[in-house]
Amino acid sequence: MNNPVGPMFNLATQQQLLEKEWNRIKDKFPAERSRIVPYPGGPQCMACKQLVKKVQVCAGCKMAIYCSPECTKQWWKKGHKRQCPATKRDGERIPKYKEIVQQFPWTDAGWNAQGYYMKYLVWVQFGVLGSSREKVGYWAVYERTNQDTWDEILDSPWGRQLTEEEGWKLATKFIPSLAPKVCPSFPPTFDDNWTSYYQWRRLPIESPAAILLQWPLSVYACLKELGLVKKELAGPRRKLRVDYIGLRDEFGFIPVFGELALLFPNTDLDLVMFGEHNSRAFERAKSRGLAPQPCVFEYTAPSMCGGGTIRIFIDPSPPYYRPSRDPSDHPDAIVALNAGLGSFISWQHVILLSIEFDIPFAVTDYCEASLAEVKWEVLQQGVSSTLPPPKGIELIHYHAMLAKVLKEVRIADVEKVSAALERERPAKLNEFMEPSQRTAMHSLSPGSSNGVIQVVTRGTAKV
Ligand SMILES: [Zn+2]
Ligand SMILES: [Zn+2]
Repeated sequence: MNNPVGPMFNLATQQQLLEKEWNRIKDKFPAERSRIVPYPGGPQCMACKQLVKKVQVCAGCKMAIYCSPECTKQWWKKGHKRQCPATKRDGERIPKYKEIVQQFPWTDAGWNAQGYYMKYLVWVQFGVLGSSREKVGYWAVYERTNQDTWDEILDSPWGRQLTEEEGWKLATKFIPSLAPKVCPSFPPTFDDNWTSYYQWRRLPIESPAAILLQWPLSVYACLKELGLVKKELAGPRRKLRVDYIGLRDEFGFIPVFGELALLFPNTDLDLVMFGEHNSRAFERAKSRGLAPQPCVFEYTAPSMCGGGTIRIFIDPSPPYYRPSRDPSDHPDAIVALNAGLGSFISWQHVILLSIEFDIPFAVTDYCEASLAEVKWEVLQQGVSSTLPPPKGIELIHYHAMLAKVLKEVRIADVEKVSAALERERPAKLNEFMEPSQRTAMHSLSPGSSNGVIQVVTRGTAKV
């Protein structure tokens, strides 16, 4: 294998490497410890969360892990019943997930004794773990939601102060430069997989850039799924506005989204990002006299590379995204990456409004089962009865915001929304998912960041 740091790792080597890295960074970045400690125990029961010595799996999907028949029964009632078919389909996709990961030579370092992939070992290999704190590079920003990080990022706006080398912190040949010396061919000619994409971008497959490129490429994959990708250069310049909701970790590597300018030639693409965290961060920034800029990043590809322009706006105002009622103000599409659509009830009004207003809306998630968590029943009940919220569901976030929005759904649209909610929404594997597999403690099923795409509202695509 063409591994930049040597042949396949064994466990002892992994352990040594992690220890060495820990000793190097522990004083500067104590919080990184949680990323690099080896996976502690082993599989856990989905219901009682105890470590399981003798794994029992669900008879349906053969994926969900339990300690006992009692726990199996209890969790089935609690909701696995609804997720089981999707979990089974995820299980059938394991070879495909592996195929995506194994396109990259550096992934042979990541598998641990439990058969899970440790993506931070790849961070360590390339020396970028913890590097986000050194003048806000693009790496190791994941799961950082503490106030310091957000303030720090706001204090160092991307792009203005960082060169590509400072942002990526990789050897120059591994950086997917936005000022390519040799332009990729136009119109874009890659197939939907990483290997082909790297070839088109003239990037060596040894580069770990895909770990971050998964974000812009997943936007691309969602828009393609919604019928909004147009590769021809001819014709008048095209305008496209995409509302990007649920911005979180991506806040740390905004310039990486510049990649989209190459993917949308002859287009002015505006990406408007919304998220609870950036709203709060901007509040704090304002109080410190740092005026947020409406447009935080702008890049135009050279004309011989298609001349596409991307502008990224971060909307500082609302804590929750809410499409305007005015159709002239609607985006061409809404995307939500790795949305956890089912976990956050605060997203559910976006589903309703995208259906009511017919705005194309696509999301990604780790696997199909996480999308199956979307409480369609809750939405349906909400639509038909408006208030009070249905019994027996988790009501966090519900009252203040969702109930208010539900009230606004026009009575005439209730039937339309209800009918749309009845439709099945099959998920599709995202070839541009993160090439890694997350640690799944409670299930044998696969899961990668941006692993699958699901169209919530197809809308009427305006290509
Ligand atoms: Zn149990
Ligand atoms: Zn099952």
